[in-house]
Amino acid sequence: MTESATLLMAQRSREMRAAGKDVIDLSLGEPDQDPPAFAIEAAQKAISENKWNKYPPVMGYPDVRAAISEKFKRDNGLDYAPDQVMVSTGAKQSIMNVVVSLVGPGDEVVIPAPFWVSYAEQVRFTGATPVLVPSTLEEDYKPPISRIAAAITPRTRLLMFSSPCNPSGSVLTMAELEELATVVLKWPDLYVISDEIYEHIVFDGIHRSIGTVPGMLERTITVNGISKAFALTGWRIGYIGAPKGVIQAANKIQGQFTSGANGIAQRVAKVCVEADPALIKGLRKDFMRRRDLVLDGLAQVPGWRCNKPQGAFYVLPDVSKSLVGDIRTSSDLSMYLLEQAGVSLVEGDSFGAPNTVRISYATSDALLTEAIKRVAKAVAELAHK
Ligand code: PMP
Ligand code: GLU
Repeated sequence: MTESATLLMAQRSREMRAAGKDVIDLSLGEPDQDPPAFAIEAAQKAISENKWNKYPPVMGYPDVRAAISEKFKRDNGLDYAPDQVMVSTGAKQSIMNVVVSLVGPGDEVVIPAPFWVSYAEQVRFTGATPVLVPSTLEEDYKPPISRIAAAITPRTRLLMFSSPCNPSGSVLTMAELEELATVVLKWPDLYVISDEIYEHIVFDGIHRSIGTVPGMLERTITVNGISKAFALTGWRIGYIGAPKGVIQAANKIQGQFTSGANGIAQRVAKVCVEADPALIKGLRKDFMRRRDLVLDGLAQVPGWRCNKPQGAFYVLPDVSKSLVGDIRTSSDLSMYLLEQAGVSLVEGDSFGAPNTVRISYATSDALLTEAIKRVAKAVAELAHK
């Protein structure tokens, strides 16, 4: 397993900043906004109640799981009973629990690319083989369903994807999800991880869940959390809705690995999932404005090409024209931009998207404008090297 490329770049920029360097960090997928006041108040209340200090149940507090079950119904049309819900230490651990539960040596996991960095590494950790299905910018970074179907074999146990997608911002339509479901339902032993952590950050179209397609709920593990929609990355709460057998296995794993998720943070998660999603509309608006700002800016960077992301807060420009001379890979380019322009981005190879870099635009308009100006200048200079 390799180190997380996103966390590695974030750490590098922290170190450079600590050493007094002027670095604009567009590497980490972390909302810069403050969390909603009701979330902070819930944490303060939970601490002063002085009754959430002991080991919580491994699966999560029953009332929190009941609230998540309601949220799945209200927002997603998914009917997971409370005993089909499990709370973990971030969606990252939710996904890891499921991957470890379902696959091992000899198994294959189909992952449409580009994909979030941790998917392929978590699969490798279990000894299973990630089977990556590539796509191009012209395809809006969504592999045609026929290409995904062709990658499935009798050894495939799991298909995993995020929509809205980290790192491309692409969003799957209901028609695409239905077509994908038709493929999945042909294979009785195939499960799907549908990572919906960016569900509230959709600009064009609407977010839909593959678990709503008839026959798919029994096959689908739906992942979500409070990190992105509520700007609460540090509280580390994620959750799943899943078929009973998967929940039982994930419960066993979590019981041996962490004993369950932080109690105070679970009280915060409860008010978040109970909140009216209209309350976080502002976040979506901020990101949409920034997406447009970044796309306008990137149009000025010589040779870079972008699609138009429909959700999440990332852009994945194709930078192949900048891979010249000593700069052979997107990793070389991101190091050049870090040192030359003081802008931290993540190389695309780790996301299964060679010749791209990922830009997280979860930062202020002023910093984004300055960062793109610096990138444009450094990239233009490359042509004269
Ligand atoms: N899934 C995707 C697609 C992500 O971008 C992230 C990033 N944090 C996660 C899962 C994990 O989120 P967390 O562990 O903060 O809940
Ligand atoms: N998911 C975010 C990202 O892609 C946070 C870092 C991580 O957990 O990988 O940048």
